[in-house]
Amino acid sequence: MHDLLIYNSLSNKKEVFKPIKEGYVGMYVCGPTVYSNVHLGNVRTFMSFDMVFRYFLHLGYKVRYVRNITDAGHLTDDSEEDKISTKARLEQLEPMEIVQKYTTDFHLILQKFNFLPPSIEPTATGHIVEQIKAIELILENGLAYEVNGSVYFDVLKYNEKEHYGILSKRKIEDAIENTRVLDGQSDKKNPQDFALWKKAEPEHIQRWDSPWGVGFPGWHLECTVMSTKYLGEEFDIHGGGMDLKFPHHECEIAQAQACNHRAPVKYWMHGNMLTMNGKKMAKSTGNNILPEEIFTGENDNISKPYTPSVARFFMMQAHYRSVLDFSNDAIMASEKGFGRLMDALTIVTSVKASEKSTLDVSAWKAKCYEAMNDDFNTPVLIANLFEGVKWINLLKENQESLTQEDLDLLKETMHIFI
Ligand code: AMP
Ligand code: ZN
Repeated sequence: MHDLLIYNSLSNKKEVFKPIKEGYVGMYVCGPTVYSNVHLGNVRTFMSFDMVFRYFLHLGYKVRYVRNITDAGHLTDDSEEDKISTKARLEQLEPMEIVQKYTTDFHLILQKFNFLPPSIEPTATGHIVEQIKAIELILENGLAYEVNGSVYFDVLKYNEKEHYGILSKRKIEDAIENTRVLDGQSDKKNPQDFALWKKAEPEHIQRWDSPWGVGFPGWHLECTVMSTKYLGEEFDIHGGGMDLKFPHHECEIAQAQACNHRAPVKYWMHGNMLTMNGKKMAKSTGNNILPEEIFTGENDNISKPYTPSVARFFMMQAHYRSVLDFSNDAIMASEKGFGRLMDALTIVTSVKASEKSTLDVSAWKAKCYEAMNDDFNTPVLIANLFEGVKWINLLKENQESLTQEDLDLLKETMHIFI
């Protein structure tokens, strides 16, 4: 078996995967913010990591896969409002009703796509105590300051010894220049500082007591606290969508460094975006399609319904680090291709074995693994599987032949990857 190469966003290179503990993988992936239904773009990111999770399991690793639920603290980009509290106020529901509704929806959708459940699915609200402890530690280490009931991470101070921008490859000067000064941010010493704890205004419904008064934790902190709690101060893989690299993951690194004086993650993996009509699928812009609409066909961007398997196959035909554009034509083509694969699996059951093999099945199998070992290259894997389909059709017509052993190997390999 060849080495498994993973593209590490920290080094911007493919690196040989070496687990911290032989035989074990610790992987953390940022989960959804449960204030609305997940769209197909969100699903793409989680699907990429479901594929990664499955491949590690297939290789025989014991994997602890942690994927959180953000049920507090995620502030909107254009204001300092918490997404869940805002939605709760608008819909006149308890924040926990919003959280419950969309967590249930998330689980239902992932079940339809046949995702493996993560080993641990922690919530931000379930880890307030740990977050407060982490803030106390960062304050003690002199890398945060309290103003008027809120606590902010001191980015400039941190950057004196560490590199704020190590992941996103930003220079601190650019961060300073690009940070917009927003209303209500005047408490900060510097605009690029980020909130570890926010004072809750009277209308803010999700609120907890803390040494700094009543408030709520900042979004970035939950992932630092929950990843290191369940996977250790240093763990193997941290994943998420490309759009989370900055500021979210950059802040996660800074917080973990500030707490534990070490880099938290060995391999950072970032999935690329699903687009539609050339633009990023996003909740906020309305340019998105919901999984349920794919299954029912009820969306103007598609002409008919598609099954979850076809949608998964469509996504896997692109490499997880490439942008993928969703369109009716593209998913229809995937449906055809997927049908050919499925047909081949049926046809192969009636192929008879011969005395000798005219095809090199072992070399073909090795090529399938090579593709996966090359940074989970599913499009190349799928091209190999189609080579298998071609062979199966030739075998059926007696234009090629395989021994029983090779025939079994061909079937077995097709079944591993489909
Ligand atoms: P959110 O609920 O907004 O925090 O997003 C949950 C996950 O979905 C994050 O890992 C995002 O990076 C990812 N995500 C959001 N939009 C897209 C998109 N258009 N394509 C792929 N992943 C996305
Ligand atoms: Zn996160």
